[in-house]
Amino acid sequence: MPWLPAASSRDVEQVWSPRDGRFLPDRYIVGTCPHCRYEAARGDQCDGCGTLLDPPELLDRRSAISGDLDLEIRTSRHLFLRQSLLVDKLRDWVDCRAGWPAWVTSLARGLLTSDLRDRRITRDLAWGVPVPRPGFEGKVFYVWFDAPINYIAATKEWSDAKPSERDWRNWWWQARDVQYLQFLGKDNVPFHTVSFPATLLGSGEPWKTADVIKGFHWLTYQGGKFSASRRRGVFTDAALEVLPADRWRWWLIANAPESADVDFDFKRFAGDIGKDLADVFGNLATRATSFACRAFDGRIPAAGEPGSAEQALAHEVDRWLAALRGWHERLEFRRAAAETRALWALTNGYIQEQAPWSVIKLDPARAAITTRTALNLLNLSAVVGWSIIPTLADRVLAAFGEAPGWPSWAAPPASTLLDARKGHPICRIEPLVGKLTEAEISQLESRFSGAEE
Ligand SMILES: [Zn+2]
Repeated sequence: MPWLPAASSRDVEQVWSPRDGRFLPDRYIVGTCPHCRYEAARGDQCDGCGTLLDPPELLDRRSAISGDLDLEIRTSRHLFLRQSLLVDKLRDWVDCRAGWPAWVTSLARGLLTSDLRDRRITRDLAWGVPVPRPGFEGKVFYVWFDAPINYIAATKEWSDAKPSERDWRNWWWQARDVQYLQFLGKDNVPFHTVSFPATLLGSGEPWKTADVIKGFHWLTYQGGKFSASRRRGVFTDAALEVLPADRWRWWLIANAPESADVDFDFKRFAGDIGKDLADVFGNLATRATSFACRAFDGRIPAAGEPGSAEQALAHEVDRWLAALRGWHERLEFRRAAAETRALWALTNGYIQEQAPWSVIKLDPARAAITTRTALNLLNLSAVVGWSIIPTLADRVLAAFGEAPGWPSWAAPPASTLLDARKGHPICRIEPLVGKLTEAEISQLESRFSGAEE
């Protein structure tokens, strides 16, 4: 990236610790709050009264690292991203985006006012990307300035691996057929709605910017924050040691914190998994395939003509599939999971109502069409659930003799639903998901209760 016209350099007063031999970031400076006399106030904020502070305001200030009391104020020259010059440009940019969650747009608009300050993009730290400019030796870029630039660097590395086939510029400059989506926690929304677009727009070059910024609120843990340092919460490696990925994937998507914070607790998690994956999806898979194996000799029955119940169902599934596709396209994950679960429940309800096991003696053709419809619906249930629960969906599709991997759901279901797979072999699906017992839930709660350091 060429040098940014939208950057400027200024002198900044910073706190130097002789004992630590370094400049201290604001939060590594502690002292007494001048407003409420709280004794463990940090250089950026007082946790006693909530006031935002500057380190020189603290009384009896000291280093949080070594306790050094002889802190000095030293001047250091730094680079600033001149966001204040770009407010109108950024506002126009936000105004011409579509499909953002409403709260992300209003958070961005709230930041893009005349109060927007220039952002310091360099630091006096030993670790980081060096600033390639005379006079800035020993300084590095601020992580939230350089981290998003790595999105571009990563594609360059990818294209450099096969330069004859790939050109990273096609993704970023004159980008045609590129849809750029960012998925972020809410703390990262300001960097991606203001700072990173300011970097790109401020360069004056035709960089591709995000089309959709899908921000999320917090996932909290049993009523409090997740904390890696206090080992509070469930982290990915430990989560996968105790339960298969699909359980977690299902719960996290079905409960994604899209419009507000969402709290995780094991009782609710176990209840949701038991209900959705064991009672509805798993039960459907086992019941439909067991019956076909028993009553139709391991084949999807070819006999029977669709009746009014099947025609109505097919039309309902058509409408439902269009709605589900819409939720996925609009990145509304909770609604997508809810609609996926609705198809599973619809299929379960259909089998329950038609009860092929009780009509098979009197009306084998009726039992055949009911079973075929239920199995085709089960197949569709797995196909549309695949993006959330790929392992469980693959197990279901394997019973139909289908290879694992992302299945297409482009075919119109109403026509395929009633007549597809006549005479195809089908295997019985063993119970897919077990329910957690009270004892197992308590065990998980105590294993992940968190240990204060
Ligand atoms: Zn205070």
